[in-house]
Amino acid sequence: MPIKRKINRPVTAIYIHIPFCQHLCDYCDFPKLQYFRLFAEKYLSALSREMESYNVPNTIETIYVGGGTPTALDDDLFLELLEIIKPYSSIVKEYTFEANPESLSKEKLQMMKDYGVNRISLGVQTTNDEILKKINRKHTYDDVKTAISTARKMGFDNINTDLIIGLPGVGKEQFQKDLDNLVDLGVDHISCYSLTVHPNTMFFIKGISEPKEELSRDLYDYAEKFLKENGFVHYEISNWAKPGRESLHNLTYWKDEHYYGFGMGAAGYIQETRYTNTRSISKYNAGKCIDEEEHVTREDDKLYYLMLNLRTNRGIEFNDYIYRFGINFLEAHKDTISRLVSQGLLVLEEDRVYPTYDGMMVLDQIIMELSE
Ligand code: SF4
Repeated sequence: MPIKRKINRPVTAIYIHIPFCQHLCDYCDFPKLQYFRLFAEKYLSALSREMESYNVPNTIETIYVGGGTPTALDDDLFLELLEIIKPYSSIVKEYTFEANPESLSKEKLQMMKDYGVNRISLGVQTTNDEILKKINRKHTYDDVKTAISTARKMGFDNINTDLIIGLPGVGKEQFQKDLDNLVDLGVDHISCYSLTVHPNTMFFIKGISEPKEELSRDLYDYAEKFLKENGFVHYEISNWAKPGRESLHNLTYWKDEHYYGFGMGAAGYIQETRYTNTRSISKYNAGKCIDEEEHVTREDDKLYYLMLNLRTNRGIEFNDYIYRFGINFLEAHKDTISRLVSQGLLVLEEDRVYPTYDGMMVLDQIIMELSE
């Protein structure tokens, strides 16, 4: 059978970054700044110009508006943002807005509903009020409960919550409580990312350290067992979802597909080029959007493809790999795959190979072995 190689893939996703926050959290390294209305007004004009400057095709399936805190915008600017996105959102399957629990008002939820937003991603981090206060978050656990129940009542049936593993004060007991609370609230998706302490954050200045590997592993092990028992599927290293509630948008990244990144600090991948926008608001507002570009060669792409697809329970699909690179992945890595399978790190099926839970926990090692 002749081997086909997929050269041009459609762009299927849009990420939009809204960099404003009502307050700045001590651990955060995202491109963000304190909310000032004047900046936000100029920013929305610049965002609109950037989006219009691309000839966005009608192949877009998902839109994700993240930040920063998109819900930090005043209501009239929030409406303006929804209007800017409207030409791209009419036929998408998944349209997500990130929100902080304290700023997810009924008014904003109604606006989102009116404009077709069908997924909410809430930054919860922990459900312990004292710890939230210490890390300079402005919400409480009560705010989380109110935000989720209000969103549910208004018809949002796809809600994600983020937790951070290894926040100071969050040991195993607190983490168990956090997961218990979120499961009780009936959320559809839970992301658990391990704390990274970045230079230039208050955590770094205060000398707070990242969680020890054993603690992270112990908490991931607990999440894996507990969430499975409660009907969640572990579909990506740090993400669990009820069946059918996997994030379609994030799967675009993990399938190594093409996407636009709009806004300050956003990253995109189109026409074999990965690009990152500037983190400077003044440059961005002046229209100097792109800061870095990387041309992705076929060899780079093979490595990206491996690194990203193996994060998921879908793994590497052999036909897709042939379609994309013209290579039979199983033939090319037969011995390594069978060794990793016998070590309990990979599962081999007729049409694909994917990591076990233990495999996901040592993914770097697997990638290194499969990229040799
Ligand atoms: S964690 Fe979220 S709310 Fe806190 S500063 Fe960062 S972007 Fe803003």
